[in-house]
Amino acid sequence: MAYKRILLKLSGEALMGERNYGIDPKRLAEYAEDIKEITNQGVEVAIVIGGGNIFRGVAGASNGMDRVQADYMGMLATVINGLALQSALEDADIPTRLQTAIKIEAIAEPFIKRKAVRHLEKGRVVIFGSGTGNPFFTTDSAAVLRAIEINADVILKGTRVDGIYDSDPEKNTNAIKFDKLSFDDVLKKGLKIMDTTAFTLSQENELPIIVFDMNTPGNLFKVIAGENIGTIVKN
Ligand code: UDP
Repeated sequence: MAYKRILLKLSGEALMGERNYGIDPKRLAEYAEDIKEITNQGVEVAIVIGGGNIFRGVAGASNGMDRVQADYMGMLATVINGLALQSALEDADIPTRLQTAIKIEAIAEPFIKRKAVRHLEKGRVVIFGSGTGNPFFTTDSAAVLRAIEINADVILKGTRVDGIYDSDPEKNTNAIKFDKLSFDDVLKKGLKIMDTTAFTLSQENELPIIVFDMNTPGNLFKVIAGENIGTIVKN
């Protein structure tokens, strides 16, 4: 395996599967199987999950809601997704712990870095919920932050697109896919992979990012095995 410890970032929208809102149990079960394939190989897996399938702070604020209040709602949405993912992983017999940046101790452990690392060493999948715990951030920033904290080898951004293109492949059929980019290339070409805060944090800490299509079963294993099926960003 090319990587020993990974941080997988899953967007909330990915959990919708074929639906327009909420959580598709079929999609969760597929993800659990994909994750099991790599934990079976001894790969240590931490996951940051988004909340966009349920609520986004920006959307709330654009409807007149207080932004901070709306962002807390978004963070709670990520906890709902975290609980759903935990349940699906446990159904697949994968030991799992959910840790949250906002304390909700009846249902999740508080985020404690040393404890998270210990869980990983014991072969448990650790899901990080409620983002960074701060409004005005995204779960992409939370993913990079946690990845650095736990010393992950790489951050894997599972999307519905199979990598980074020079233009939107869902709109432009002639879009060209990149196999490999440096952080500077991404900035020079004006490509958008993550929000600026998340991207800068990754660049400053030399944390490689792989963007790949998580919706094709078996792809996660291929990425971990070192196959070049997505786009890797590293120096
Ligand atoms: N959020 C936040 N701080 C964080 C992470 C998330 O306030 O550190 C809120 C924010 O409102 C965001 C929502 O939680 O819109 C859901 O997260 P995100 O939009 O990143 O989810 P995704 O797009 O990955 O589904």
